[in-house]
Amino acid sequence: MNAFLKKVCLLFGAAAAAVPLMGTTLRKPAPIAYTAPVPVAEPDAPRVWRYLVIHHSGSSVGNVAMIQAEHLRRGMENGMAYHFLIGNGSAGLGDGEIAEGRRWKYQLQGGHAHQDSLNQTGIGICLVGNFNRAAPTAAQWRALARLVVDLQREFNIADDHIHGHGQYFGEDSDCPGKNFDWDRFWGAVVLAQEQDDGRSKERLAAGGASAKVLKTP
Ligand SMILES: [Zn+2]
Repeated sequence: MNAFLKKVCLLFGAAAAAVPLMGTTLRKPAPIAYTAPVPVAEPDAPRVWRYLVIHHSGSSVGNVAMIQAEHLRRGMENGMAYHFLIGNGSAGLGDGEIAEGRRWKYQLQGGHAHQDSLNQTGIGICLVGNFNRAAPTAAQWRALARLVVDLQREFNIADDHIHGHGQYFGEDSDCPGKNFDWDRFWGAVVLAQEQDDGRSKERLAAGGASAKVLKTP
């Protein structure tokens, strides 16, 4: 190929890349589906987390291994779609116990939202339970609030970037269920934020009273 033709091809390629949707139909991505492998984030290029996305598992019983297996079975190669799971005292995961998933350990994008953009920038936190039938336990509320406040501080996430899965535009889901009481959620978060503010000096000195998170093996 001569230099001129090469230049034309490059220009044409650039133009085509700039308008990828021209003449095509914009399709909603299939729910929780991956079409390409998710690369492990480079250690020197941390992901930018901007949102917290709260989910329920939709099951009355659950732990990381169970959800990991289920999501692998559904074709998600990185397993458990959420970054954190908060137990309800079933299947060996304590009531209010916070477990880190593999995606958090390796700072991978989530698989918990339908939209890729939300998976890329949203930390997925799932509470074990079906909150269309039951409600979170007192220990789950406390653990969730503690984790939310820790993540807010660490990644500078504003209150208005914290929502239930179905509250995000374009998600079309009733998750985390109709019994997830948002007044109670915000009450618990504000309490944890205030405790944090009051304790911040001692926390800094003592190494903190952060949420205790079970590390993924
Ligand atoms: Zn959800």
